[in-house]
Amino acid sequence: MSNFIPLSVPNFGPEEAARADEAIRSGWVSTSGARVGEFEGQLAAYVGMPRAVAANAGSSALHLAALAAGIGPGQEVIVPTLTFIAAVSPLTRYVGAEPVFIGCDDSLCIDPDAVEDFCANRCTLKADGLYNDRTGARVAALEVVHVFGNMADMPRLLDIARRYRLTLIEDATEALGTRYTAGPLAGRYAGTMGDAGCYSFNGNKIITTGAGGMLVSNHPDWAEHAKHLSTQAKADELQFLHDEVGYNYRMTNVQASLGLAQLARLEDFIAVKQARYDQYRRGLDGVRGLRILPFRDEEGTVRSNHWFFSLDLRGAGLDRDRFIAGLQARNIQTRPVWALIHEQADYPKNEAYGLDKALGYRAGIVNLPCSTNLTEADCDRVIEAVLALAAG
Ligand SMILES: *Cc1c(COP(=O)(O)O)cnc(C)c1O
Repeated sequence: MSNFIPLSVPNFGPEEAARADEAIRSGWVSTSGARVGEFEGQLAAYVGMPRAVAANAGSSALHLAALAAGIGPGQEVIVPTLTFIAAVSPLTRYVGAEPVFIGCDDSLCIDPDAVEDFCANRCTLKADGLYNDRTGARVAALEVVHVFGNMADMPRLLDIARRYRLTLIEDATEALGTRYTAGPLAGRYAGTMGDAGCYSFNGNKIITTGAGGMLVSNHPDWAEHAKHLSTQAKADELQFLHDEVGYNYRMTNVQASLGLAQLARLEDFIAVKQARYDQYRRGLDGVRGLRILPFRDEEGTVRSNHWFFSLDLRGAGLDRDRFIAGLQARNIQTRPVWALIHEQADYPKNEAYGLDKALGYRAGIVNLPCSTNLTEADCDRVIEAVLALAAG
């Protein structure tokens, strides 16, 4: 049997092993040690921010962002429905707020038209902010998720957030390295344009620390507050005085050591992602009704990190789940895009708007193997298997 081709796995080599070894031999294996601050500093420098705050997961970083933003009970947050659950729960239910779900545009990111329509036609802008006409609740924030490494439509979403006085939180957990290369936002990285942004270093992300996350913010006091909350809100090192409810959301020195090695390889990883993506496009896009989804790059203004590749089966008349099973039988792992969040057990009572495209993409796309250690030959094997299934 041919070797197993996984969807997305870590790419560790001698650099990571040497860094982990150094941390272990030094004895600094837990949440103290110099590497955490070093990794925060290097990540911040990479995305062009003054400071970054490490966390034990992207989910934790998002929870810290919600707390730093003051999102809480009685408030609502506009969120995408086509996303991973960790984009939604930490910003809403973790802090006692409720989501309003919005569908996606063709980049799979939240649809600015539907957000605008909700704010303009289903809410009232008062002196102290936006209020939902149906529930009477304050609509406090807008969350943007840069899905699969795509850049969401930031010029429009930033404008909407400003006009309707919404805090803008960016979930850039999948989009580290995605940036504007031209236009008014040239040089700005996904995660750095709103009030706060979050990254993830989970095992399937473009760089990994095993598990981990990071927060950046354009409000220096929010970043400080997030750091404080992530370390049990300890106000005094010696006496163990705590001035509010905090969390143990700290990253370890071993994880940060891995992060330093991975961050040094990020641009190489992005180059590999781009090369494999181009290979899939050449092999599959437009063949037998198949389509490889493009990444948003209007007029050459965006450099995407190309984290996850999406194959649209709808034009080929293929059944998604049979297609996934067919590839599994050939030892190739693929997966459907997430079940929509507004249909998940805890959220059906929440409002949801502009869903047509999200429902279509949910039904019709699968993600193809995209690890940064996927070889050209393995990629060809996936292409051949897909074409064989499409031939029926
Ligand atoms: C991975 C991911 C998260 C959460 O990150 P963890 O590090 O796994 O907690 C949140 N949102 C999205 C969109 C993600 O893909």
